Amino acid sequence: MITIHPSTKQDENPEAEPTTTPESKPEATPSPTRSKVLAVVNQKGGVGKTTTAINLAAALALEGLQTLLIDCDPQANSTGGLGFPRDESRQSTYDLLLGHVTLAEALLSTEIPTLKLVPSSKNLIGATIELISADRREYKLREAIDPVRADYPFIILDCPPALDLLTLNSLVAADGLLVPMQAEYFALEGISELMSTLDRVTQAFNPALALEGVLLTMYDDRTNLALQVNENLKAFFDDKLLKTTIPRNIRLAEAPSHGKPVALYDPKSRGAEAYRELALELLTRNNMESPEAKRRKAAAAAASSLKSFQQPEKKGRFWQSKKSSS
Ligand code: ATP
Ligand code: MG
Repeated sequence: MITIHPSTKQDENPEAEPTTTPESKPEATPSPTRSKVLAVVNQKGGVGKTTTAINLAAALALEGLQTLLIDCDPQANSTGGLGFPRDESRQSTYDLLLGHVTLAEALLSTEIPTLKLVPSSKNLIGATIELISADRREYKLREAIDPVRADYPFIILDCPPALDLLTLNSLVAADGLLVPMQAEYFALEGISELMSTLDRVTQAFNPALALEGVLLTMYDDRTNLALQVNENLKAFFDDKLLKTTIPRNIRLAEAPSHGKPVALYDPKSRGAEAYRELALELLTRNNMESPEAKRRKAAAAAASSLKSFQQPEKKGRFWQSKKSSS
């Protein structure tokens, strides 16, 4: 659980107020327009956070948008899933949080030219301890991202399965929370804890943080249970429940072992289609049009004007002139 007050364990005193005094309360720093930092978060393990972070980031990048994925989890699964072997000597999110490097110095290029990665490493576990007495320890990631924020329409943060200082840094850096969830009977368990963390972070550190959406993952719409859970979540989250659902798809599970996002591993798979649909839904929700969408629109307009040129209106053509009345 995130300990917002350094000297008060929330477990001992759930009513404890954060240390932030009204005077030190942060202003809502407006993010540059057309830039969105999304934290993929759920303290429950194995719900599809990393799969979503990698494949959403790749789908956005393939839409022609400069996209940055920051692996904020010491398990470094986003890093491995994009084909980078775990390497503790490489500059990583750990160095970023501790101020050893700038974000630009920790960037890795990926197979998709518009997708960049800040890798993670096991060292990151130590950051929670090393930062404990640091000044503004909750703002380390935000401050590291700030100089490059305007360069990336989307920055995706893959969070660990815990509400710890690493996740807190992600929530303080983010504009939106993307919560992957499995359609199971206990789906809502733990969500109230996540939502109250969201409230606390909003009050104490980041007034601009909002729930971007809840995403059903490993979804099988052939089961009554999945449909029932979907209905319950719709009642609970209303329009924050995303229309796109991610099916259980073997290609999604296989892709990381090939070091590729599913869009490169098997672009025609249901998994690749679903993450593409998710990227388009998020773009629509944020009133953003990708370079690829503009290109598709221009191509469709060109195709339709070509069609009308090739098939001009028949009316008035000389060979269709009225038959003589005789
Ligand atoms: P952690 O909490 O440990 O970080 P996570 O929430 O990031 O886990 P993932 O690592 O994305 O979860 O997924 C857990 C497992 O489920 C992985 O083996 C992954 O390949 C598999 N998986 C995720 N989504 C799907 C899907 N839609 N279809 C099939 N397998 C999936
Ligand atoms: Mg993960």
